[in-house]
Amino acid sequence: MNFELTEEHLAVQKAAREFAQTELLPGVIDRDETQTFPTEQVKKMGELGFMGMMVDQQYGGSGMDAVSYVLAMEELSKIDASASVAMSVNNSLVCWGLEMYGNEAQKQKYLIRLAKGEIIGAFCLSEPEAGSDATSQQTTAQDMGDHYLINGTKNWITNGSSASVYLVIAQTHPEKKHKGINCLIVERGMPGFIVGKKENKLGIRGSDTHSLMFTDVKVPKENRIGEDGFGFNFAMNTLNGGRIGIAAQALGIASGAYELALQYSKERKAFGKEISRHQAIAFKLADMATKIEAARLLCLQAAYLKDAHKDFAHASAMAKLFASQVAMEVTVEAVQIHGGYGFVKEFHVERLMRDAKITQIYEGTSEIQKIVISRGILK
Ligand SMILES: Cc1cc2nc3c(=O)[nH]c(=O)nc-3n(C[C@H](O)[C@H](O)[C@H](O)COP(=O)(O)OP(=O)(O)OC[C@H]3O[C@@H](n4cnc5c(N)ncnc54)[C@H](O)[C@@H]3O)c2cc1C
Repeated sequence: MNFELTEEHLAVQKAAREFAQTELLPGVIDRDETQTFPTEQVKKMGELGFMGMMVDQQYGGSGMDAVSYVLAMEELSKIDASASVAMSVNNSLVCWGLEMYGNEAQKQKYLIRLAKGEIIGAFCLSEPEAGSDATSQQTTAQDMGDHYLINGTKNWITNGSSASVYLVIAQTHPEKKHKGINCLIVERGMPGFIVGKKENKLGIRGSDTHSLMFTDVKVPKENRIGEDGFGFNFAMNTLNGGRIGIAAQALGIASGAYELALQYSKERKAFGKEISRHQAIAFKLADMATKIEAARLLCLQAAYLKDAHKDFAHASAMAKLFASQVAMEVTVEAVQIHGGYGFVKEFHVERLMRDAKITQIYEGTSEIQKIVISRGILK
C-alpha cells in the first residue's frame, strides 16, 4: 500500500486551495446571504480545468484521475460548497455520463464545451413524486419516430437556471417500468422548456436549485444517450460516481470548519489561557480530526477503485454516508468551539453547518446509501 500523494496530486491540491482562498473566499458570505450563483467563479474554475477534471483531453477535459478530483473538491468545498456542487454535478453527473455513454456526435457537440467549463450542465432525475424512488418517473418522453416529446416536471435541479445542457430522465415505455426509461439531452431554449421557481434553501444558498417544466418539448432522437430504455441504468451508474464528489464535498465542509475551529481555539482566551488548552476543547478537536481523516480515507479509497476500473459503487456509498455524517458532526462542534461568534455569519462556520446538511440528502439520502451498502454486504 502507498498512502503518498503524487507530485501531480499535490499540485492539484495546492492550485485548488489557492483558488479557493483568492477567488471563492471573497464574497462567499454575501453570495450565501443573497442566494447568488457564483457565475464568475465557476467560469474561472472552467478556465483552470476544474469543470471537466476527469474528462479525456481530446474532449476538452483535464485528463486527471478521480483522486485529483477528490482533492480539488475537498479544497473548494472548505470555502464555498455552492461553487463545489456546480463543479461536482458538471464533472460527475454530466461530463462523466456523456463521456462514458454518449456517442461521438454527442461528445463533439456537448461534452467538449461542458468539460472546458464554457457551458455547464444539469442532471434531472428527481420529480415532485420521485425522489429516492427514482423508478416512479412521471415525466414522459413519447417516441414520435424521429424525435421525442417530453412532458412533465423535474424538481430540485442543481445548476437549474445557469445550465445550458440538461440530461433529462423520462419514461418512454411505462409498461416496461424502469427498463422503459430514457435519458435525453435537452438544450436551454428548446420550445416548451421552462425554468421554474428557485428554491429558498437552508444551505448551499449560492447554488441555483430550480424546478423545471416541460410541455411538448421536441427533442431529436440523436439526443438520446445509449440504447432505448437505458436511461435508468445511466442515472444509477452516474450517481455511483457522483457520490464520490458529494462525499468529497462533505469532507471539505468538515475540514474547512475544523481548520477554522482549530485556528480560533488557539487565539481565543478564556480563564487565562487559550481555549485549545482546555481539555474539553482539545478533545473535541481530536475527535474532529480523527473523523475527518477516516472520511478522507474512504473518499480516496472510492476514488482509487474508480481509477483502477474496479467496482466502486459500495465504496462510494460508504464514503458518502460517512463523510456526510462527519460533516454534520464536525460543523456543529466548530460552531460550539466558536461560542457566540460561531453563531454569526462573519466567522463562516454557521454557513458550513447549514451547508453540511444537504450532503446527507442529495444524490441518495443516507438511508438510501445504507440500502446500497447493506445489499452489497448481504448479496
Ligand atoms: C439542494 C438540492 C439539490 C438537488 N439537486 C438535484 C439535482 O441536481 N438533480 C436531481 O435529480 N435531484 C436533485 N436533488 C433531489 C435529491 O436527490 C432528492 O431530494 C433526494 O434523492 C431525496 O428525495 P426526496 O426529496 O423526494 O425524499 P424522499 O424520497 O421522499 O425521502 C423522504 C425520506 O424518506 C426516506 N426514505 C425514502 N425511501 C426509503 C427507503 N426505501 N428506506 C428508508 N428510508 C427511505 C429518505 O431517506 C428520506 O429521509 C436535489 C435536492 C436538493 C434539496
